[in-house]
Amino acid sequence: MYDIIIIGAGPSGLAASIYALRAGKSVLVLEEKNYGGQIINTLDIENYPGENHISGFDFADKLYNQALEQGANIFFEKVVDIKNSKVKKVITEKSVYKCKAIIIATGNVNRKLDLPNEDSLIGKGVSYCATCDGAFYKGKAVAVIGGGNTALEDALYLSNIANTVYLIHRRDTFRGDEKTINLLKNKDNVKFVYNSVVTKLNANNVLESIEVTKKDNKKETIKVDGIFIAIGRIPENDFFKDLIKIDESGYIIAKENCHTNKKGIFAAGDIRKKEIRQLVTATSDGAVAAMEACKYINN
Ligand code: NAP
Repeated sequence: MYDIIIIGAGPSGLAASIYALRAGKSVLVLEEKNYGGQIINTLDIENYPGENHISGFDFADKLYNQALEQGANIFFEKVVDIKNSKVKKVITEKSVYKCKAIIIATGNVNRKLDLPNEDSLIGKGVSYCATCDGAFYKGKAVAVIGGGNTALEDALYLSNIANTVYLIHRRDTFRGDEKTINLLKNKDNVKFVYNSVVTKLNANNVLESIEVTKKDNKKETIKVDGIFIAIGRIPENDFFKDLIKIDESGYIIAKENCHTNKKGIFAAGDIRKKEIRQLVTATSDGAVAAMEACKYINN
């Protein structure tokens, strides 16, 4: 039996593990995919206090190694259910683990365009991660979909690799930072496509072109070898949404102290309903949730 099981090895989960271990608790971290969470998709982190420039990969590596050094057990297993009683159970596809407190730090996953062949074209022209897959499109034409910081940064990254980058946004103003927009405007190979929604992925085994529909319902076909979908993220709440109180968008309702509506179950990071989802707020939540979980166990 562990003192605390942390579900998710992103910045909030790993930060929580460091704080809980330093408070003398035994900790198991369970992660379905890879450690680091969504920060691994960020090329250059410039806004984390104490780090002027660091890549998301390097940041994730440092955090992961720091947690291991403190003594964290980190298993790569998908959690499918949790059972809430005095002794709590976390059920994965492989095993059942017992603990006194749970910290949910599952973050969120890529939102999809929900086009019929989107899933079958992943790896054949459809991607959600420019830094992971961008290199496959050297000298080719690509489109980035979205108007937030992720889309802007993806477009900037790809403009140094691809021949042409279409930045397709459903409105004519961006959500992302002005600084990145200005950098993109100075790039000759970036074409802005405003007020447009991708309505079809045309493929013959691999993606060949996309259809975009404009506000006036006019359709246009753009020839691209790849598209990078960066239209935000949705909470990963499958295994607990019937147990823990969530808001209308699926995020856990928990106060700044990270307590959920179930005693001994805490929420940290992007999975928690909050105003600001940043790296610094994710790690901060991790620390708070860990300290609150320790308090709960000690009492
Ligand atoms: P986001 O800010 O939520 O932006 C999502 C974008 O996708 C919006 O422009 C939205 O359009 C568009 N969109 C949503 N659903 C769509 C659909 N079905 N079809 C077409 N377009 C759709 O998401 P994000 O860019 O992933 O950023 C998430 C958070 O991380 C933000 O707080 C962001 O600032 C932060 N972030 C920070 C950094 C950094 O600091 N370096 C880097 C990356 C991300 P509308 O604008 O019309 O709603």
